[in-house]
Amino acid sequence: MNDSSQAALSLLKELALAFGPPGAEGEVRQVVHRELATLGKVQHDALGSVIVESEGDGPRVVLDAHMDEVGFCVQSIDEEGRIYFVPLGGWWGHVLLAQRVDILASSGQKIPGFIGCKPPHFLSPAERDKVLSLDQMYIDVGASDLQEVLSWGVKVGDPIAPQGNFEEMASSGRYCCKAFDDRVGVGVMIESYRAAVGGGDSLRCQPIAVAAVQEEVGCRGAKTASALSKPDLGIILEGTPADDLPGMPRRQSVLGKGPQIRFMDPTAISNRRLVRWTEAVAEEAGIPIQVAVRKSGGTDASTTHLHGSGVPTIVIGVPARSIHTHSSLIDFEDYQHAVQLVTAMLRKLDEATVASFKSYEE
Ligand SMILES: [Zn+2]
Repeated sequence: MNDSSQAALSLLKELALAFGPPGAEGEVRQVVHRELATLGKVQHDALGSVIVESEGDGPRVVLDAHMDEVGFCVQSIDEEGRIYFVPLGGWWGHVLLAQRVDILASSGQKIPGFIGCKPPHFLSPAERDKVLSLDQMYIDVGASDLQEVLSWGVKVGDPIAPQGNFEEMASSGRYCCKAFDDRVGVGVMIESYRAAVGGGDSLRCQPIAVAAVQEEVGCRGAKTASALSKPDLGIILEGTPADDLPGMPRRQSVLGKGPQIRFMDPTAISNRRLVRWTEAVAEEAGIPIQVAVRKSGGTDASTTHLHGSGVPTIVIGVPARSIHTHSSLIDFEDYQHAVQLVTAMLRKLDEATVASFKSYEE
């Protein structure tokens, strides 16, 4: 691996390990500031999204990635010091029991814990066969009682995130960690913005990096950030669920086969001309892509494309297996191809091209 790939990998690792459930994205925000603050004017919306605007003219091209990951929030604490929680984002009970989490206490201290469960010894036959619902689960922080938990500064409302472990698999270039949804998107946003804006090229569009908050609870930051970023075109960057799984036919998101261009899902239809144009850019640059029509799911395109009188958007995703768990898996080559594709798009986009996507006087 060369030096620039090594640097990109370290940044991705730092992003994936950062603590950032919805509404508590501070650690991710710090990385975005550090990486992009010298490359444009930095603004924030009132929810905490970061908007970095480059100098220059031409259409305002927003690169959006969400900083938050699926996590939880402290709902209550019982007399024996068990912490009950509500989910922030979509979780399946099967992936949770005995998993490690960190609670960011109001004191500022991170309190480690795990999601408690009965050992098989105590399970009735009926209990063995069912999926436990999240409201029956609790976090065990090893406390003796409520007073001890309170003494650490843990309060109702404190955010909770999965503990991460970033690991290269035996298959070289494949990495496993929490939060690839959407830290791969944040990484692609940083790398492609930096390559285009800091690369010394004269651009004919104005790239704007948006690191949005609270996607996992309803794409809220992308909506409020749009009031400041005022996009003429939106490129939404995601860690998209890979579908190379048992029993999934007609695959559109296979690890190692390139970034996914999401044509649509129930929340947004990408601009068709923008999709076809992007396919041509990828082909010219020799970048493999996978075009997908998704029957479920949603992204920040859902709120971004409805900003103002409407914004042509496209969703570009790095396939990741088993997202919304502690162990998602990506192929780093897909990540690098996504950076190359978005950078190539920024180098080509100009006034006439963006206008052609939204010209309806046939
Ligand atoms: Zn996501």
